[in-house]
Amino acid sequence: MKKLLLVACLIVCLFHTCAAAGPLEYDVVVVGGGGAGLVAATAAAEQGSSVIVLEKMSYLGGNTIRSGGVINAVDPEPQKAQGIEDSTDLHFKHTYEGGDNKANPELVRTLVEGALPALQRALDRGLKIYPEITTATGALWPRTHRLVEPAGTGWIRVYSESAAKAGVEIRKDTKVVSLLREEPLAGRVYGVKAVDKAGNELEIHARRGVVMASGGFGADVKLRMQHNPALGPDTPTTNHPGATGEGIIMSQDIGAAVTGMDFIQLHPHGDPKLGDLTGRASDFVQKYIYVNIEGKRFVNEAERRDVQVAGIMAQPETRMFIINDKNGVSDPNIFGDHLDDLLAADRVQQGDTLAELAEKIGVPAAALEATVARYNELVKQGKDVDFGRPENTLQQTIETPPFYATPRVPTVHHTMGGLVINKEAQVIDRRGEVIPGLFAAGEVTGGIHGTNRLGGNAITDINVFGWIAGTNAAK
Ligand code: ADP
Repeated sequence: MKKLLLVACLIVCLFHTCAAAGPLEYDVVVVGGGGAGLVAATAAAEQGSSVIVLEKMSYLGGNTIRSGGVINAVDPEPQKAQGIEDSTDLHFKHTYEGGDNKANPELVRTLVEGALPALQRALDRGLKIYPEITTATGALWPRTHRLVEPAGTGWIRVYSESAAKAGVEIRKDTKVVSLLREEPLAGRVYGVKAVDKAGNELEIHARRGVVMASGGFGADVKLRMQHNPALGPDTPTTNHPGATGEGIIMSQDIGAAVTGMDFIQLHPHGDPKLGDLTGRASDFVQKYIYVNIEGKRFVNEAERRDVQVAGIMAQPETRMFIINDKNGVSDPNIFGDHLDDLLAADRVQQGDTLAELAEKIGVPAAALEATVARYNELVKQGKDVDFGRPENTLQQTIETPPFYATPRVPTVHHTMGGLVINKEAQVIDRRGEVIPGLFAAGEVTGGIHGTNRLGGNAITDINVFGWIAGTNAAK
């Protein structure tokens, strides 16, 4: 009798375990809790969908939270107040041509037209920005908005809070390993398989849609070397360790097309030890110049990022310094670093004279003095005949002590290639057809930035396409 009871118990337990391990079901499943994922989740949930975000790391934010957080959007009112002429056509032109015409123009149009509404949406949800418009590194035009909160924390705070308010469930330490599609290369994508921290396998179904928002692959040395053999393990990166690109691969496994995978951006402002972007004494190009270890300027500091990086790569020891004076200091900088801390940590050097600064950084004093004097002369003339820096970045001389130097090296920053999407953020397969039920946004996608991304456009991208993806996935 006892034995019978035990067997009965076992059967009941087994049944319950199986039932508990059955698929979870939501209207929308979002892969990745970075910027694009949280924006998409918010969009879907605010329209009444039940939404889950699956994040493989133990933290939210991905590369977004580590970025400078700045966003490009044509915003006529504050721009006019600063005498800046701009238009969405000009933003289109800079973005498209700044990526060597390799982007999909329809996506670029969607990006630039959606930029201001996206910024407004975030402001409505509690984002705080400074009124002054500036120019992000390699943004090519002053249409960059700077956040009050450091780095990308403002975006993640706003969209975590908005997502929570709209009822989004967030599961960290849960890695998506594959997509579920009705047929291997046909039919609807109806969910994902994932693994949690304890190694449990989960199957999560999406009644309406899956949003792939898993970011790029800048932290995956093997994958990035496959696309650019020069970017080996010694090349530093700004990326968080979870930027390993498997969202792209698993989407390819169910038929998705990719584009531009070889377009990998290096940022000219890498910290020589950390590889990230923190630690600089001055944030915006209006306020600084670059010099090489010989104390000489070598590039238009307002150029495209790829041009700046090529400039550094052509210099002795392939490194440089950002040079600014007291008036050019950003304290705190956009990453929240305070100048005193940077000086104490020897990440920035200070000199009461340029000669003193030159000595501290091991650069010939006479050369640095001559370079800065020449630059000041060009500012006063209003034309950079030496390197062609545009007038809207040639406004501030470097002559008020103390002077500062921040050492910088190129660092892997953004992978512009990824999943092919249309302007509705639907993922396209290798036959050129929409994959029903699968949407994508953010760094996991390709075709928006071409060969080179403008500084400040990634945050525009996650906001514009994240919102579109979430909205359409919820339909
Ligand atoms: P984006 O700027 O496009 O939003 P982020 O790098 O900010 O990109 O965010 C992408 C997020 O996706 C990161 O938090 C990353 O850890 C997460 N992620 C990447 N791959 C997976 C995966 N397989 N499963 C769950 N989350 C993932």
